[in-house]
Amino acid sequence: VSNDNQSVLSAYEWLTKLYHHLLRYAKDGKEGYQYFKDRGISDEAIDIFQLGYAPNLKEFTAEFLNKKGFNQAILVKAGLLSLQDDNSVTDRFRGRVMFPIRNNLGKTIGFGGRTISGGDPKYLNSAESELFQKSKLLYNFDLAKKHIRKENEVILFEGYMDVISAYQADIKNVIATLGTSLTEGQAKLLKRYVDTVIICYDGDKAGLEATYKAANLLRKVGCQIKVANLKDNMDPDNFIKMHGGEAFNNEVIQASDTYISFYMRYLMKDYNLSLEGDRITYIEAVVKELAMVESSVEREYYLQQLSKEYNISVETLASELQGHRQKVG
Ligand code: ATP
Ligand code: MN
Ligand code: MN
Ligand code: MN
Repeated sequence: VSNDNQSVLSAYEWLTKLYHHLLRYAKDGKEGYQYFKDRGISDEAIDIFQLGYAPNLKEFTAEFLNKKGFNQAILVKAGLLSLQDDNSVTDRFRGRVMFPIRNNLGKTIGFGGRTISGGDPKYLNSAESELFQKSKLLYNFDLAKKHIRKENEVILFEGYMDVISAYQADIKNVIATLGTSLTEGQAKLLKRYVDTVIICYDGDKAGLEATYKAANLLRKVGCQIKVANLKDNMDPDNFIKMHGGEAFNNEVIQASDTYISFYMRYLMKDYNLSLEGDRITYIEAVVKELAMVESSVEREYYLQQLSKEYNISVETLASELQGHRQKVG
């Protein structure tokens, strides 16, 4: 770590403590504290995740760091402060609740900040820098690691709040990407720690598309995957708030689909299965995917299911599948 990065790390450590202290104990952070209380976050979770509040002031952070003797140019370069046209320096985060983003060693290397007044963007992250590279980070990986190893399973979410809600409900093998789609680097990192990844993205259109991409990336690096099926635009945080952690575990996580079940559901969005032509191409597409499944038991299971559902003989489906398997080799 270079001296500059050392200095940025130290600034992040100060800010993590400062924002957290304000949220927890100061009048200036009351709005932030109330925000998390309204969302059902406990004091204990606030402390574990070092959640904080950055006041709605232009130069609060800049002045604080200045007093601590930090070199402004380094902080600007690291994207911690913003340089204005007139060369003055202002805070990047104002009037936001703050989620420190920790690296593998538990050190803060960036922040996500959420508006509490409906401002735009909803979430603002630290700028990309040498230290903070979203495509290489997984939120909460440092705390989740030992639970991931123990369970040999990890639950992958979209958002910070999903992770915090689950963790608070005692489901601790949980991580999230930072508002971007899963990258190959992140997939490979997971593969080093775990066999099975349960993808549990939001139950909306964006979540479904992101699931498809993540699932294939994870399969490519050799992970087993399962796919949770949240409906009606729910996200994991909503679900846990509404039904509790136990229901989330039993009805969502334990009830996760295999990749093929997910794929059937995913493909349906492109077809109108009440039309005969669509139905046929849909079945062909599913069988083609099924041809790539290793386990003969699993292949047989889904062939039976398709056969029953669409009233086509298992023999016909099996011979179609065999054709694809020969091509695969
Ligand atoms: P909340 O429950 O606080 O409304 P969420 O986590 O459900 O938020 P989503 O819209 O589902 O929010 O987004 C998932 C994640 O994507 C967020 O936790 C955040 O990390 C990231 N994200 C969302 N919106 C933005 C944005 N405008 N810019 C950058 N990252 C974002
Ligand atoms: Mn979402
Ligand atoms: Mn969400
Ligand atoms: Mn949410």
